[in-house]
Amino acid sequence: MKNYGLKDRVVCITGGASGIGRAAAMALARDGARVAIIDLREADIGPVLDEIRSHGVKASGFAMDVRDADATMRAADHFEREIGPVDGLFACAGISLTAPAEILPEADFEDVLDINLKGLFLTCRAFGGRMVERGKGSIVVIGSVDGLGGHAGRLHYVSSKHGVSGLAKNLAIEWGRHGVRVNCIAPGFVDTPLLRANMPPAFIDAVVDRTPLGRMGMAEEMASVALMLLSDAASFVTGAVLPIDGGLTSGFFTRK
Ligand code: NAD
Repeated sequence: MKNYGLKDRVVCITGGASGIGRAAAMALARDGARVAIIDLREADIGPVLDEIRSHGVKASGFAMDVRDADATMRAADHFEREIGPVDGLFACAGISLTAPAEILPEADFEDVLDINLKGLFLTCRAFGGRMVERGKGSIVVIGSVDGLGGHAGRLHYVSSKHGVSGLAKNLAIEWGRHGVRVNCIAPGFVDTPLLRANMPPAFIDAVVDRTPLGRMGMAEEMASVALMLLSDAASFVTGAVLPIDGGLTSGFFTRK
């Protein structure tokens, strides 16, 4: 089992009830961190908290929508009271939709931008603002390989994830001198409920065929890099946008 040196740190994960966020919650619990979970529904958060606590660490949950600015502030207060001031944030909540650009509904465009980008800004403002006041903290935001280039049928998602890469860089330069690091991970194809719901099996097979490591990633493989970036092992890393994609974005021609 890896040790990230995050024992007794207080780390909040948005979207912590499923997929990549949930995998990060479990990795943090195994490392001895105190874990704060934000997700939409209490009923989804409860079982995650039980599993975290089974590792003998403190955990706290807050059901909310990341688009709600007031709720982000209330969540930060709640966690501070229950398990201590949050000094690490993994902003992982997100949605994924698909539609050709020429018929893409305006409402879908707004939803994806609101959750994936504005929600992430609001979360970073609430938790990162307090880290700035205390002069220390580390934030990892969830981008995507779709934040590095285009993807047909995914204009809204691609726009939101390009925004996330920019947001991470901007926060990094604004908050660096306040002792707060901000980095972005850019997963490729990761086997989660979100991916299975959005990508036809034949498309997944085609992507795997183009991926130098020859497979999809696992949620735990995103979580481990997020934890490394949250930890002091990455003490001189800020403003980075790091692909975790099995080499998918490293080149166009992947077969000899
Ligand atoms: P997932 O659906 O398994 O988990 C996402 C979680 O976010 C869910 O628990 C959901 O309830 C929560 N959530 C959604 N909207 C929310 C809101 N408005 N407020 C609060 N919580 C909300 O998905 P996942 O695959 O683990 O994806 C997590 C993140 O990783 C997303 O931002 C996604 O864009 C990104 N990502 C995933 C992949 C992949 O292949 N799975 C690749 C690149 C990036």
